[in-house]
Amino acid sequence: MKYIFVTGGVVSSLGKGLAAASLGTLLELRGLKVVLQKLDPYLNVDPGTMNPFQHGEVYVLADGAETDLDLGHYERFTNCVLTRANNLTSGQVYETVLGKERRGDYLGKTVQVIPHITDEIKSRIREVGADSGADIVITEIGGTTGDIEGLPFLEAIRQFILEVGSGNAIIMHVTLVPFIKAAGELKTKPTQQSIAKLREIGLQPQVLICRTEMPLIEEVRQKLSLFCNVPLDAVIEAGDVAHTIYEAPLNLREEGLDSTVCRLLNLETKDPDLSNWKRFVQRVIAPKKRVRIAIVGKYIELQDAYKSIYESLTHSGAANDCGIDMVLVDAEDIEIEGAEKYLQGVAGILVPGGFGDRGVEGKIKAARYARESRTAFLGLCLGMQVATIEFARNVCGLEGANSTEFDPETKHPVIAILEDQKDVTDKGGSMRLGTWQTKILEGSLAHQVYGKTEASERHRHRYEFNMHYRQILEEKGFVISGTSPDGNLVELVELKNHPWYLACQYHPEFQSKPNAPHPLFKAFISASLANEE
Ligand code: GLN
Repeated sequence: MKYIFVTGGVVSSLGKGLAAASLGTLLELRGLKVVLQKLDPYLNVDPGTMNPFQHGEVYVLADGAETDLDLGHYERFTNCVLTRANNLTSGQVYETVLGKERRGDYLGKTVQVIPHITDEIKSRIREVGADSGADIVITEIGGTTGDIEGLPFLEAIRQFILEVGSGNAIIMHVTLVPFIKAAGELKTKPTQQSIAKLREIGLQPQVLICRTEMPLIEEVRQKLSLFCNVPLDAVIEAGDVAHTIYEAPLNLREEGLDSTVCRLLNLETKDPDLSNWKRFVQRVIAPKKRVRIAIVGKYIELQDAYKSIYESLTHSGAANDCGIDMVLVDAEDIEIEGAEKYLQGVAGILVPGGFGDRGVEGKIKAARYARESRTAFLGLCLGMQVATIEFARNVCGLEGANSTEFDPETKHPVIAILEDQKDVTDKGGSMRLGTWQTKILEGSLAHQVYGKTEASERHRHRYEFNMHYRQILEEKGFVISGTSPDGNLVELVELKNHPWYLACQYHPEFQSKPNAPHPLFKAFISASLANEE
């Protein structure tokens, strides 16, 4: 088993996750089995309760773990299937160690960062390797070198490398090489200093990923190699991608990253076959058509809050050979000024998931607009709930219909916490999380889209469609086209008298990959294209 640790220096937001994922892509295409893991130095036990404003999207794994959005990159860029164990936070480490201490497992010894915390970290790294049966474990350490918080992780890595031997583990340091305009030069000092910080604690990176706006000229490469003590071919230039993040593996391959890594780890493999990946990138960069898709959300000003949705749209755009012009609409604007102003002329409307009542009425208006204007509509999670509320109010005349999340006293709780679900949702942070099976109605639009009558999809929500209203809604042309296998929970809804209107209680965006777009997104884009034409 080989290990690659990915650290970051100088500043945050350098795209460490993307670099780790891209290396994963290259190694996998060389025929190696890869697994990725993220260590986050914050004290939250998981990112599930963290504000999207601070943390971007919460990425949900098949086993229901609520994780950092970098795990989304990992799953999209490789075939590895991740679990709870692949995202470790300081909070979890301390929780485990303190739990052991309370149980008396340490037999009265003084419990300390070294060895107790570091032992726990090391055992979690080994566990991921062992459980996955991978050839290579790529472990990304969140944060930036020099952060106090990250120290226990870095110390654990020092010990770990000592234990497995230096030919079996390397450190890949992602750093910034800034261009100073006034001097007309690329500067290596910040990188030198961040390497010095790592050396202070006994870590020597073997590979440097240099984020830069300018090409790394030979002289700069040599300087970095000399001062940072890494081989010249391990100084890797990583400029900004020109069009799409999916270019990153191709660019890193050009720089020879995967060959260098394999050499350092004594791995003999074939060269990677990047032809499928290149074809996908080509379709993203130069599509034949374009389509305008509105996304009506409450975090649209944040780049990362709907990350997986944006990526899924890119995947399905490529599959339809069409570029996606995303029209990001703040649901609160629609609330005030109406849907028409913002949505007129778009080919498709997507309402993503969300929590809390801000912007909900705007989303309801967007669902109504899509229904009435016969625009292609895809509702995800909360998007399905607002579609239901809209239909109940405006088609079935159920005045004030709502979700009990937004109006606990509503006369018509069409979305609610179900009595018999309470014992399920009381567990695990009170949400329905992770993979659940869906039974799809034969002959429905959903059936046509999936091409099968079963699907397994990832969930993250508390409230459900209220079956008491099933008949009233169905009489007016609302179709429940997917349910849980026992028929009790609604998973998919659509409209009889509409060309393409589908909404699901789950999150298909967590299962879309570049060359395997999710069927719902793919069909949504192709229906939107039909609108456009
Ligand atoms: N707030 C809704 C619920 O808890 C929807 C959640 C979501 O969209 N992820 O059911």
